[in-house]
Parts: sequence; structure tokens; C-alpha cells
Amino acid sequence: MATGKKPDKKPSPKTGKKAPGIWSGLYGTVEVRRIQPYQALKTYICPGCHQEIPAGMGHNVAVPLDAPDLRRHWHYACWDGEVKTHG
Ligand SMILES: [Zn+2]
Repeated sequence: MATGKKPDKKPSPKTGKKAPGIWSGLYGTVEVRRIQPYQALKTYICPGCHQEIPAGMGHNVAVPLDAPDLRRHWHYACWDGEVKTHG
């Protein structure tokens, strides 16, 4: 006597994954270089907080290897936050 009952497991339709951004692989591996204070000769705008990174302040520069022109200078803390956001 079969019960006719079969497992009815639905696959989850979506993973909630969104398209990768520049900093999560859109343009390949992102290489992060640490800029020492003596190397920071210009003022940059950090894309994480839109605040200035003044000359003479150590920071990170993130370079997408497939699009090095899109490199951006980040405060250390802002970059850490960006990386954590994407897991
Ligand atoms: Zn910042």
C-alpha cells in the first residue's frame, strides 16, 4: 500500500544575490595597496564616505585589475567597511 505521498520540496527561487560592483569583482580582482603617509602627495575623495583624504594621510588605494583606471583612494576604515559589506 503506497501512500502516494511524495516529497514536495521547493527550491529557493532566488538567492538575493545582486550584480557585483566594482569592489566585488565586476572588473576582476581588486588589488588593495597601502599608501604610506609620505606617498600621499595629493588630496583624494574617499568614495566610501565622500570626505577628503588629505595629503600626508596614509590610506588604501583599491585597483580593479581589469580596469585600473577606476582605482579609488579609500580611508582604511571605509575600505574595511566596504569589504565587510560584501562579505
Ligand atoms: Zn572614507
